[in-house]
Amino acid sequence: MIKLENVHKSFGELEVLKGIDLEVSEGEVVCVIGPSGSGKSTMLRCMNQLETITSGKIYINSNLVSHIEDGADQLNLPEKDASKLRTTLGMVFQRFNLFPHLTVLENLTIAPKMVKGEKGAGMNEKAIGLLKSVGLFEKKDEYPSKLSGGQQQRVAIARALAMNPSIMLFDEPTSALDPELVGEVLEVMKKLAEDGMTMVVVTHEMGFAREVGTRVIFMDEGQIVEQGTPEEIFEHPKMDRTKLFLNKIFK
Ligand code: ADP
Ligand code: MG
Repeated sequence: MIKLENVHKSFGELEVLKGIDLEVSEGEVVCVIGPSGSGKSTMLRCMNQLETITSGKIYINSNLVSHIEDGADQLNLPEKDASKLRTTLGMVFQRFNLFPHLTVLENLTIAPKMVKGEKGAGMNEKAIGLLKSVGLFEKKDEYPSKLSGGQQQRVAIARALAMNPSIMLFDEPTSALDPELVGEVLEVMKKLAEDGMTMVVVTHEMGFAREVGTRVIFMDEGQIVEQGTPEEIFEHPKMDRTKLFLNKIFK
């Protein structure tokens, strides 16, 4: 569903992604771990076309969406095609970024309305169904400021799902939360995974990666150092860099 081929990304002189090759298949829950600054967020942002890659290829659902070689765009995808492809990816960030002036329900319906031209009862019904699935139906008319961080993040997940994405990207979705609110968000993500959603999750929650991840990727200094099943990575890491990182985490 997602394929990255030799993806490089630099910010000026700083090379942040140094040749990433990655393929994510339908129904996989790929958990990405690694030290701060290793390029995890940048990789997600490149997948989502929030960043333009410096070179390489990216496919989404078998469509080539980026192809850049020697600084030249080989594809020149029209913006309307690019934005359509972008809607097949839902993204949830560390900070929930809800619209503060809209109610919870309006936060869910604004993008389907504006981007897809949806309207009416069907759209509202879908949004209400999603709010129920994240346990927040009773908050539908509240404003985000009245919600806890955990509740806001669950709304953000429901909002991303309202666009019917075929893949969900999560960038440290629980890092900004008080510890007691982490569980409720992970629970929603776990349910989503069990329902078969294809997910790429950057996380420091090793318990979640171990339990829910179908594959774990360890990134360091802009490269995928090692990947495997949770058991392979957590119990039998092969590379020294992976061992070092896990030792620090589990100390
Ligand atoms: P991670 O998510 O693994 O912590 P990031 O992808 O956020 O890492 O960042 C990787 C490196 O890229 C860091 O050194 C960061 O400072 C740099 N970086 C990220 N975004 C930008 C940007 N927009 N401009 C310049 N440097 C950036
Ligand atoms: Mg990050």
